[in-house]
Amino acid sequence: MTALMAAEHGPVTLFTKAKMGDTNTSLAQGGIATVWREDDSAELHIQDTLKVGGGINDVAAVEVLCRLGRPAVEKLISLGVNFDRTHSGYRLALEGAHSLPRILFAGGDATGMEIQRALSEAVHVHPNIETVENAPLLSIEAQSGRVEGIRYLHPQLGPKRLDCHQLVLATGGAGRMFYYTANRETATGEPMAMALLAGGRLVDLEFFQFHPTALDQPGYDNYLISEAVRGEGAILVNEQNQAFMAGYHELKELASRDVVSRAIHQEILRSGRVYLDATKLKHESVEYRFPNIFHHCFSAGIDIRKEPIPVSPVAHYMMGGLATDLWGRAHIPGLYAAGEVTRTGVHGSGRLASNSLLEGAVFGMRVAQAVLADQKQVPQIWEGPLVPSPALETPSSVSRPLERTEFRKLMWEHASLIRNESGLKQLITRLDQALGPVPDGLDYGQFELWHMIYLGRLLAQAALLRTESRGSHYREDFPTSLPAQQGSIRHRLGFTPELVR
Ligand SMILES: Cc1cc2nc3c(=O)[nH]c(=O)nc-3n(C[C@H](O)[C@H](O)[C@H](O)COP(=O)(O)OP(=O)(O)OC[C@H]3O[C@@H](n4cnc5c(N)ncnc54)[C@H](O)[C@@H]3O)c2cc1C
Repeated sequence: MTALMAAEHGPVTLFTKAKMGDTNTSLAQGGIATVWREDDSAELHIQDTLKVGGGINDVAAVEVLCRLGRPAVEKLISLGVNFDRTHSGYRLALEGAHSLPRILFAGGDATGMEIQRALSEAVHVHPNIETVENAPLLSIEAQSGRVEGIRYLHPQLGPKRLDCHQLVLATGGAGRMFYYTANRETATGEPMAMALLAGGRLVDLEFFQFHPTALDQPGYDNYLISEAVRGEGAILVNEQNQAFMAGYHELKELASRDVVSRAIHQEILRSGRVYLDATKLKHESVEYRFPNIFHHCFSAGIDIRKEPIPVSPVAHYMMGGLATDLWGRAHIPGLYAAGEVTRTGVHGSGRLASNSLLEGAVFGMRVAQAVLADQKQVPQIWEGPLVPSPALETPSSVSRPLERTEFRKLMWEHASLIRNESGLKQLITRLDQALGPVPDGLDYGQFELWHMIYLGRLLAQAALLRTESRGSHYREDFPTSLPAQQGSIRHRLGFTPELVR
């Protein structure tokens, strides 16, 4: 979106780490939230977004998201995205914690694939956009206090440098830090760590959303079962075939994701397994409304028209990330960001379903405007020079390498749905031992893993500091929310992380 908007005014180079379509965007199922019906309003969408945000959303950012959502979705439509329609207009779905149906979707449950298709096609034919696929970022150069260039790994030529004074990160989230996730392999989050090392701020890292319902069938991947299936009326049952959500929240299956995920986690501990039962829905609505989910489950031996789907929570969405202003500017002049990599303040401690594709569209357009405006005038968000250094505040004297799988299992065990002080401390100690000098990047796997561990360490540190529970962050040793902690934890290189209210 950003590349397309910016390319109207000059040349853009677009780097992707893998193939263009290897994104979390292309996996999105449920849809994109927007105020579309006559009886809906931006105010109602704002209210719903704030309700699940746990009191720490940036209200101004939420206003931007909800008020500018419709024009952004109209822009997607004008770029060729085909949302599903009835004879009288677009079909709208209901998802958890939304007051009324406001989710546009495509191909039943293939919304992201359709958005990715339309945007990729538009990018490919644009004369002002050069794409370089399979070329991961290695570092952001900003020694003089503003972006001067990047280093990246060219697929044939090895490490290369590019002069660049305006860099937009649209590098997505980091669900692959956790062992159980439906995120794409590219969602490893290393550009967030690179941005911190270059002088950016990382905020709200402890807030990681876990999606309640991914397929939990041994031998098959954690395929996501969209919230929209619950929106259509599917219910959650335990091993004894009892519906249990009423015991956890009045909104039952459509309570916020944090509530539903923890309820499923508890029921799994109590009764063994949890199932999503869609058998009472009309066969038509299951098979045609959710064709990909239907076929995926069918190939895993489950006919969702006739039998319940075994499900469990997975790591899904990173609410925190690189801090930006309302125009996508980070704290280093010349560095911008849009999408899941950012912390715009839209989501607070819990994201409302289908608000992330919307955030990408709305802020993806705004950041292009900021890039163009800043070519005439230097941006103001910069708060003074920092000394970039990859050193951790607490380097460990013991050095022990950590395999990727072991790292992801540790993150799941100690930093996922239910956290406590001793688990987080164990995790931090182990991650510190694994963080030697930054690898050179020639082996991208090792380079990526170092940055994942670094980011995981920052997340664990924030989770340890937040001695309360709020939104997606749940501490069993501090199960309630504390007014004194109604703020955001900010990481800044060379400074102890601090809570900013
Ligand atoms: C299974 C699933 C279902 C979802 N369903 C929905 C939904 O229904 N509605 C909704 O709103 N949200 C949904 N989400 C969340 C949403 O899809 C994502 O938050 C959003 O698409 C992220 O978009 P993005 O552009 O920020 O990142 P991505 O779409 O992940 O794109 C990131 C890009 O950055 C590139 N990149 C990453 N690292 C580097 C690097 N080091 N160097 C160079 N390039 C790099 C990648 O190659 C990729 O091209 C879902 C997520 C998942 C995983």
